[in-house]
Amino acid sequence: MTPPREKNSSAMDAEVREKIHLEILKRTGAYQSNDHILLPSGHHTGEFIEKTLVTTEPSFTEGLGAVIAKHFAQWPVDVVLSTGPGALILSHCVARAHPSRPILIYGNKRMVAGKRRVALPAEFHRLIRPGTKVLLIEDLVSTGTTLKLLIKLVEQFGGQVVGIGALWRRTKRAEVGGKPVFSLVSRDFPTYPPESCPLCKKGVPLNEEFVRRRQQRKVSSVVERKTPSG
Ligand SMILES: [Zn+2]
Repeated sequence: MTPPREKNSSAMDAEVREKIHLEILKRTGAYQSNDHILLPSGHHTGEFIEKTLVTTEPSFTEGLGAVIAKHFAQWPVDVVLSTGPGALILSHCVARAHPSRPILIYGNKRMVAGKRRVALPAEFHRLIRPGTKVLLIEDLVSTGTTLKLLIKLVEQFGGQVVGIGALWRRTKRAEVGGKPVFSLVSRDFPTYPPESCPLCKKGVPLNEEFVRRRQQRKVSSVVERKTPSG
């Protein structure tokens, strides 16, 4: 897939482009709509994005990454930085398509005492120096907490975040931590507790597949077995 040409993209309005991106995400099975979905939180929703599935089609990911790269093409970028497996795959595609030919690095995300923490592997420290221009890439932006931590991390090294590219933005404002967010889809969807769910009231059957899939994930892991021979 190639990104739309300048002529076409200016002719198409944002709504049409967003619909195309939604269709692409639907093809991967990542975006589900017109449904009645049980979420792991116990809430119900009519549409849902399963971020694990977002980057499963390499040619789609490359095409979407190219659209993000094109948006940021006018800004010089030295480094593309992301966290998490989905965002990392997308960020590779963005970095590959950006005219500045930026390098690609990633931070590690984990929870420490119930708080999110982002760390940059020591090998990458020398790659963000004072004045280094950094483009952050995220697959799904909801609260923006991880992105705010990444901005802080970059600034600690003296680097400068030029912007944030994402597949999907669930926040109302197109900025996080004072940095502009460009997303292919900007859409939030309401979730309801079962007792006040309008879909339950309408008698729409509840789809428990997402929750079931998550539970299955736990029993599908494989562990190395210790053998006497080593
Ligand atoms: Zn419901």
